Amino acid sequence: MSFTPDSYSPAPDLLKDRIILITGAGDGIGAEAARECARHGATVVLTGRTQAKLEAVYDAIVAEGGPEPTIAVIDFAKAQGDDYRAIANALAEQFGHLDGLLHNAGILGYLSPIEHFEVPKWLEVMHVNVNAQFILTQELLPLLKAADDPTIVFTSSGVGRKGRALWGAYAVSKFATEGLMETLADELDYARVNCINPGATRTAMRRAAYPAEDPTTLKTPADIMPTYLYLLGPDSRGTSGQSLDCQPKRVRK
Ligand code: NDP
Repeated sequence: MSFTPDSYSPAPDLLKDRIILITGAGDGIGAEAARECARHGATVVLTGRTQAKLEAVYDAIVAEGGPEPTIAVIDFAKAQGDDYRAIANALAEQFGHLDGLLHNAGILGYLSPIEHFEVPKWLEVMHVNVNAQFILTQELLPLLKAADDPTIVFTSSGVGRKGRALWGAYAVSKFATEGLMETLADELDYARVNCINPGATRTAMRRAAYPAEDPTTLKTPADIMPTYLYLLGPDSRGTSGQSLDCQPKRVRK
């Protein structure tokens, strides 16, 4: 099936009975993805570092009549192996499998030339944006393998495909994310693995990167959800190793 975000029309029960874990589910794109997955029938596992934000998303989903979510607090900057394993063990006990994994959490760090980029900040960005995804994926693969139609989605960026001055560790981490996705996609025959590039989207991260920008000119997280639903649901069966844009550039004819 050929996919374009503008023409995609997901079935209302697209994700019925699916268990989907979303990182960074307390704010921005991740919070909207959690609500949208629940609206389409998924039981979402809300992970993030700020419990109060995760609880607010939990309450919103329940208030809308969605399947009751699960919350797992984890700070990827500080988590150790046992913290990841505890999530995997809890999910194994509660559900026995995992249908979808959306790696959405990420940090910008700051914009700075490489020459002046502080080493601790560089390491933090690489750890949260890359290493944590690797560790979480590794812990969750047995649960994904136990699912009928597992899908893994990593979050990339335009600067993960073409480097740009000042974007430092963030850009390099997104290149690494693309590499992790491609490598894993090539290794797994039981799950599809893809990247999603949200494009410029109205969130706190975007505001931090472009403080002078008028946010009303940007797409909202809700606007970009079709590509998330596509990759997290059964319509993307057979698609793996791809990096999809939520806001593809129009090709002028
Ligand atoms: P936000 O900053 O709004 O949200 C990021 C989420 O990640 C928050 O829920 C945050 O938790 C969580 N998070 C950050 N650090 C950690 C950590 N150490 N441990 C656990 N969770 C953490 O960003 P966006 O919604 O804009 O971004 C979502 C993804 O989309 C990111 O991967 C980003 O790189 C990517 N992206 C965004 C674009 C945009 O224009 N917005 C463009 C291209 C890519 P908390 O709320 O507690 O801080």
